[in-house]
Amino acid sequence: MKLLSGKVALITGASRGIGRGIALKFAAEGADIAFTYLSSAEKAIELENELKQFGIRAKGYRSDAADFKAADELVSSVVNEFGTVDVLVNNAGITRDGLLMRMSEQQWDEVIQANLKSVFNLTKAIQRPMLKAKKGSIINVSSVVGVKGNAGQSNYAASKAGIIGFSKSVALELGSRNIRCNAIAPGFIETEMTAVLNPETVKQWCDSIPLKRAGSAEDVANFTVFLGSDRSAYITGQCINICGGMLT
Ligand code: NAP
Repeated sequence: MKLLSGKVALITGASRGIGRGIALKFAAEGADIAFTYLSSAEKAIELENELKQFGIRAKGYRSDAADFKAADELVSSVVNEFGTVDVLVNNAGITRDGLLMRMSEQQWDEVIQANLKSVFNLTKAIQRPMLKAKKGSIINVSSVVGVKGNAGQSNYAASKAGIIGFSKSVALELGSRNIRCNAIAPGFIETEMTAVLNPETVKQWCDSIPLKRAGSAEDVANFTVFLGSDRSAYITGQCINICGGMLT
């Protein structure tokens, strides 16, 4: 029996990187997949086709996670088409890095909207169907940067730390309704988001990681499957680092 058979998952920002890795792993474990993207329409179509090869239902939706109304409409559409949502993965995220001295208001606002407000938007909208179903697992993608901070990423760190506080609060509010909410904090994961870093920086990061390598989208996806499955039925309100030991 596959770990996610019979479950419907909604994953934001799955056209690339970690979200794509999570969608593929969830499909391999038997979940039906609704996923979102913002600008990568072609990649979304490719992913939808790839997911269907697993013999599950899959559909990509163009939806801006930072937009409150759009998130509400998205959840209604997914529930109409898939019947319910058992697992929500709030993965969509961006960076607009810069030292505070040079950071513009726009850089701050864009990151907070895309990374933190998006998590509020989707979680608020998903409450209704999950309360009705009397079950659910919400998984919010934070970052080790939200736990530790990082020079040049004060906006990103604030958004990711906010996700952790939000996740713990939602876990406390919805635990009695059998709805779990956890955060995951990936470390240095090789995706397009980190491809912009220069090779010297990448080497320094990898040298400082006890497991001596960058993580992959699959590394993150494997743990996300566990949190989405009933194997983690007694785990809520936690933030788990997936970082090769970078933070201990
Ligand atoms: P990525 O390769 O840049 O992919 C980001 C994904 O998010 C894309 O699918 C993008 O869609 C989507 N997206 C961005 N803004 C969106 C919005 N407003 N609405 C809907 N979708 C949106 O990034 P990644 O490295 O996979 O990161 C995924 C998550 O993991 C992010 O939350 C990131 O902060 C977190 N994380 C990453 C690392 C790392 O080392 N890579 C470490 C810790 C945490 P389009 O392609 O359509 O634009």
